[in-house]
Amino acid sequence: MPIFVTLILPVPLSQTFTYRLTDEQAVKVKEGMRAIVPFGQQHQYTGIVSQITDKAPDGIDMKDVLDLPDEEPAVDNRQLEMWQWIAEYYMCPIGDVMKAAMPAKLKPESGKKGIIRTDFKPKIRTVVEILIPPLGTDMGNENNARLAEAFDRLKRSERQQTLFMKLLDMSHCLQKQKADAVPQDQLLKASGCDRVVLRELVKKGLCQLREEVVSRLDNTTVDIITESPHSLTEVQSVAMNNIRSAFVQKAVTLLHGVTSSGKTEIYMHLMQETIGQNRQALLMLPEIALTTQLCMRLRRVFGHKMLVYHSKLNDEERAEIWNRMLADEGVDLIVGVRSAVFLPYARLGLIIVDEEHEPSYKQQDPAPRYHARDVAYMLAARHGAKVLLGSATPSLESYYLAKHGRFGYVNLTERHAGVSLPRMSLVSLSEARKAQTMNGPFSPQLIKSVNHALLEGHQIILFQNRRGFAPTVECTVCGWTPKCPRCDVSLTFHKRLARLACHYCGYTQSWPARCPHCQNPSFAQQGYGTERIEETIARLMPLAKPIRMDTDTTGSRSSYEKIIKAIDTHKCNVLIGTQMVSKGLDFAGVAIVGIMNADSLMNFPDFRAHERAFQLMEQVAGRAGRRVGQEGEVLIQCSEPHHPLLKQVIAHDYEAMAEMQLADRRKYFYPPFSRLIMIYMKGRYEDRLDTLAQRYASVLRQAFGDRILGPEAPGIARIKNMHIRQIMLKVEREASPQTVRQYLNTIQSRMMHDDKEMAKVVFYYDVDPV
Ligand code: ADP
Ligand code: ZN
Ligand code: ZN
Repeated sequence: MPIFVTLILPVPLSQTFTYRLTDEQAVKVKEGMRAIVPFGQQHQYTGIVSQITDKAPDGIDMKDVLDLPDEEPAVDNRQLEMWQWIAEYYMCPIGDVMKAAMPAKLKPESGKKGIIRTDFKPKIRTVVEILIPPLGTDMGNENNARLAEAFDRLKRSERQQTLFMKLLDMSHCLQKQKADAVPQDQLLKASGCDRVVLRELVKKGLCQLREEVVSRLDNTTVDIITESPHSLTEVQSVAMNNIRSAFVQKAVTLLHGVTSSGKTEIYMHLMQETIGQNRQALLMLPEIALTTQLCMRLRRVFGHKMLVYHSKLNDEERAEIWNRMLADEGVDLIVGVRSAVFLPYARLGLIIVDEEHEPSYKQQDPAPRYHARDVAYMLAARHGAKVLLGSATPSLESYYLAKHGRFGYVNLTERHAGVSLPRMSLVSLSEARKAQTMNGPFSPQLIKSVNHALLEGHQIILFQNRRGFAPTVECTVCGWTPKCPRCDVSLTFHKRLARLACHYCGYTQSWPARCPHCQNPSFAQQGYGTERIEETIARLMPLAKPIRMDTDTTGSRSSYEKIIKAIDTHKCNVLIGTQMVSKGLDFAGVAIVGIMNADSLMNFPDFRAHERAFQLMEQVAGRAGRRVGQEGEVLIQCSEPHHPLLKQVIAHDYEAMAEMQLADRRKYFYPPFSRLIMIYMKGRYEDRLDTLAQRYASVLRQAFGDRILGPEAPGIARIKNMHIRQIMLKVEREASPQTVRQYLNTIQSRMMHDDKEMAKVVFYYDVDPV
């Protein structure tokens, strides 16, 4: 009887695909295996077997599976279930989930031009193993005799003697590291001999060559465990016990602990406990590149049991991690960014989501637009694992669920070792502007505090949420502003590039020669980006040695490390940065944090704007005064010092903020009281898109009533020459997500089927947008 397989292919199409197996393939096929198949006229893809069946779907001209390259599945059942769930919940093709989940090297494909991207191959190196016990092994006379004999055989060739001596030498060193063979290339380099000489030694029976698989993961130098976590203080132990007892009842617990209260120490104890029970722990971080310091701390405690999974790994490294996890080869702790939820865990026991409120846990583009924290709940459920959310400023969603008993809730209200929370003060920009005492972006108070701290040898962090030099450029006569030709945004001037750049699509152009409207040749730079602040500092603060941290200065992983080192070693004393500086940094010497402009954080049209602004300010403030005997100070420059949110910020009053915001959310029926689904429509022609979006919304309204809002043009209504419209669907938390999705899908397919114009529009959904 012929056997067929249903495959998931990495293509953005919703259906699955069925292929026929040969008898030989039918014997070995298993669910989760990779299969290489033809697709269309010119392509070959690697797919994943999701079902094995003996029923052929009728009426289709079926193609054959070309190859099943592996003996075992590359994806396990739990992963397949997760993919399915993500595709359904986040309303995207399962092929997109597969694309995001699997390392590219594990899904080779051929393109139109017939180029085949190669499959993952283990890295092999040749090693040389000595066949005579090296010097220093205490084998007495017998050994000496064999050595003497060996040298005797080599006496005619000086080069062979040199090589042999080197081999003895290096083997001896290796023994201490419990390795038994010397890498060939290292040996040849160290001895200055070539392969011909080595071949002679092999012929004479003094050594042998063999091939060895080596890891691409750079953990060979640091896999020695040198530390255990600190013992917990009493308050921390109580918190840890509360977490344990919460886990008896609840799958998810929120650890709400102020910055520097020892959350990370508690994580380490919990992870050790999990590993002690022979289960795996996953520590999720919003952005690995920023947590160099933390990874070093963890490495000293967990050594080679720990692997790091982040965006700066290359394809081969990702594939190696995947395969090691699949084979369950001694990986007990994974530290990773959001995509780490896709790895093949064999015995997951605990997931910790640190800084759970961070929006970067949500993938924006492309699909799947998943929230890694929420996917973590599903992942944990499939493994019978527990989830700990950690934050000093929890998302209102998690806070609400914890306060209402859905999650466990554990609180840590004190910083470790009695270090006090930083003193916060507000500086009125409107007053300083009126008094004309502003110096560029700096109020006199901020300049004074910074200069004083620098004089005392302290360090400073300045937080500004705009990168580049000047956020906008303006004609001095008519006020015209250069805009991106492809997006609805004004261009930012970057001095180092000497160009204007679009932060949405990467478009750049040179400085305009003349205003196209009035021919005036002079332009003014408006506003201050991080680059311009760095320049201004040099003028106002003579003791400052500034360094900048934003996406322009942190292209590579090593550039973060350099910046962190510069602050750690006091080579620099002022760190200027975008929101990157709010996350995870732990410096001893930071006395002052300056928030350059609170207005820009608070005033944007989003129902989460105030929650976000509070979180950002509290997080960045938390970088100040982290050691005993040094109180930190935070200066917040703002135009409206009487704003209630700022009052909450300076009092570190998360509860008050949460209460006020939750009241608003309840009133206007926003999450956590409702769930949102954003429906996006994209098209090349604005008028036509507008008409279609109106038509679509009115059809949706027939089904969902006033739960449908819009269509609206989003804040940035055109990106890369595509116009965008959004329709918002607000549904009750109690409504069945499945039913809602079915409705939406049905309406979309019907509209696209009935209306030729509609079929040209690009549709996508953003479920639970952040
Ligand atoms: P959080 O994750 O809550 O911001 P951390 O765990 O990073 O806090 O702790 C802040 C600082 O206090 C770190 O330098 C940490 O090593 C130190 N610390 C926290 N708890 C202890 C402890 N029990 N013993 C010694 N040092 C501690
Ligand atoms: Zn002009
Ligand atoms: Zn652009």
